[in-house]
Amino acid sequence: MIQSANLGFPRIGARRELKKAVEAYWRGDLTAEALEETARDLRARHWQVQRKAGIDAIPCNDFSFYDQVLDATAMLGAVPARFGHSGGAVGLDTYFAMARGTDEAPAMEMTKWFDTNYHFIVPELSDGMRFALSSSKPVDEFIEAKRLGIATRPVLIGPVTWLSLAKARGADLDPLDFLHAILPVYAQVLDGLGAAGAEWVQIDEPVLVLDLSDKQRSALQTAYAALARVGPKIMLASYFGSLGDNGALAMGLPVAGVHVDLVRAPGQLDALLPLAGDKVVSLGLIDGRNVWRADLSRKLAQAKPALAALGPDRIEIAPSCSLLHVPVDLEQEEALDEELKGWLAFAVQKLSETRTLTRALGEGRAAVAAQMAESDSAAAARRASTRIHDATVLARADAITPDDLKRTSPYPERRKAQAARLNLPPFPTTTIGSFPQTAEVRKARAAYRRGEMSDVDYDAFLKEETRACIAEQEALGLDMLVHGEFERNDMVEYFGENLAGFAFTKFGWVQSYGSRCVKPPLIYGDVSRPAPMTVDWSAYAQSLTERPMKGMLTGPVTILQWSFVRDDQPREATCRQIALAIRDEVADLEAAGLPAIQIDEPAFREGLPLRHADWTDYLNWAVDAFRLSSSGVRDDTQIQTHMCYSEFNDIIAAIAEMDADVISIETSRSNMELLEVFGQFKYPNEIGPGIWDIHSPRVPPEAEIAALLRKAAEVIPAEHLWVNPDCGLKTRGWPEVKASLANLVAAARGMRQTA
Ligand code: GLN
Ligand code: ZN
Repeated sequence: MIQSANLGFPRIGARRELKKAVEAYWRGDLTAEALEETARDLRARHWQVQRKAGIDAIPCNDFSFYDQVLDATAMLGAVPARFGHSGGAVGLDTYFAMARGTDEAPAMEMTKWFDTNYHFIVPELSDGMRFALSSSKPVDEFIEAKRLGIATRPVLIGPVTWLSLAKARGADLDPLDFLHAILPVYAQVLDGLGAAGAEWVQIDEPVLVLDLSDKQRSALQTAYAALARVGPKIMLASYFGSLGDNGALAMGLPVAGVHVDLVRAPGQLDALLPLAGDKVVSLGLIDGRNVWRADLSRKLAQAKPALAALGPDRIEIAPSCSLLHVPVDLEQEEALDEELKGWLAFAVQKLSETRTLTRALGEGRAAVAAQMAESDSAAAARRASTRIHDATVLARADAITPDDLKRTSPYPERRKAQAARLNLPPFPTTTIGSFPQTAEVRKARAAYRRGEMSDVDYDAFLKEETRACIAEQEALGLDMLVHGEFERNDMVEYFGENLAGFAFTKFGWVQSYGSRCVKPPLIYGDVSRPAPMTVDWSAYAQSLTERPMKGMLTGPVTILQWSFVRDDQPREATCRQIALAIRDEVADLEAAGLPAIQIDEPAFREGLPLRHADWTDYLNWAVDAFRLSSSGVRDDTQIQTHMCYSEFNDIIAAIAEMDADVISIETSRSNMELLEVFGQFKYPNEIGPGIWDIHSPRVPPEAEIAALLRKAAEVIPAEHLWVNPDCGLKTRGWPEVKASLANLVAAARGMRQTA
């Protein structure tokens, strides 16, 4: 019998119950017992949903109070010394302290999980660290499910992935050298799971889709030679890409099964089947990373060669990866129109798709004729829908010429034209765009959205906020001003709501980190701009001041990266359409008299593919998209861009290719280290290294800012330097913003005097 499997279910709850409970616990409004109870209820509900959907291999230990990598860290007892854990079980408070920090001990680092928008807590290793089984969570959850009559397949983050993601504190420590120290704990867990009755475990080793070092490869061999000997059968899960050159390695490991991602990498199956030996191959056919309904006939055709090669007992049908990355249940989206809804599948729906596909393959199409027919007609309807295809957009994209990607003159000439128009002092000061979104601003927006505040009143309110913000910037003595972004809830959502081809859900939440969830827009069709989106605000702002005002836009790559993107055309084609829409906005801002326009691309780097071999291709189209959006202006209109959360080493050449006149970056926390690569590369255009870390409420003293500025001036020619914070100020309060910006302006003035 062909089995259906699931790799992980979203734990946050259809109504974000877990988020609410965890935050209440943090506030002290909920007891630990009540929190545990909410968690237990959610787990039970999720197991039952999966059973009801007919999933054979149902995961457990995919639940987490914060993060599954942190769970593995707790399991191994790898608690950094500063949290004062003296051995034994890692309790809830130590666990949350590691994730969020305390007054005495800063939180552990957090970073993005592969190429997703999910963030995990980075394991920290130090010399002589001892490991011991410190959490019974995997076994507890297995038993909890068993008591409900559900046999589950526990999920663990694999040892080599855990180590590969870890950071070692100490110059010459290599995390992989800790392998021998953590394997006994893994063996103990597997033993425990076997004793509790687990027949299979799922061990996630997503590093298998990366370029691996020889050391990582041999670590995988060592690890699985050891773990395959104990306890339950191992389903080794790879996802987010192709096994590629690691295919033979993965298929050669002594595990009982291997899961492969056939959504990201449908082509890898042919090469893997002959290597399968007597393994079970889990076919990740249902997209766990995106919200579109599967075309089951196509998936069925994809699965058939595997059935022919391996037989029904040696294949499983599954989503491509854990469903953690998609919203919970489409049924809740009552406001979404029926046509669009017909094209979508969230986690619950993806389970049904998995089951239907399993039956179609095992029992024949006829056994699930109705579901297959429904899937066929949904796929056909989506292909044919007039809402998706816009001939004007396609014709325009086809007509793009190399000239559209080029400014009129090279940067040195533009610099002269802009200097004449802008008339800025050396070390010009500016901000990244947003100013504090105070409780008042958020309250007004909420009231407006609920229909309790009229268009006219809301507009008047926002105008007043903008006016006050500009007066504040003038009083502070900033040189290039911004309007403050009070009209925006979110830098992607705002544009999505104003562009054709986008849709929004009501409950489409996905965990981003800890209790934080995001609700990405859906890009379902060709993108165009029915009307100007920001021009009124920027023109109004410019009308209030003699100083140069910056128009403020989100770039095409960032809009793409932070949305659920249609899967019926290449991502770069969608990105190009967004770029054309932004290009129109840029043109209108220029025509409205804005002398500078900032196009934010904070997500530029995170779009990098997992394999180096794919980087050039991505960087080419991403740079082109930025240039397409920004190149339609005159020489004397200044184009700025902004990037945060980035290492720039790998992408400095691409950043230079973007050819923005000015780029602002985040670098204060690294003490200008991130800036060095711009110096080494001799970055040709202007640059504003953030000299105030806006992620903390702390006000940096003038001397500290001045020191950072002097440091920056050692690396970058002084005439190319701007002075600005690290990022937007929307999460800060006005008092610290005023104090910090006053210091920033004073530091810049000091530099002008000594220069
Ligand atoms: N202009 C945006 C702001 O200031 C940029 C935010 C970002 O880079 N994440 O909020
Ligand atoms: Zn930023």
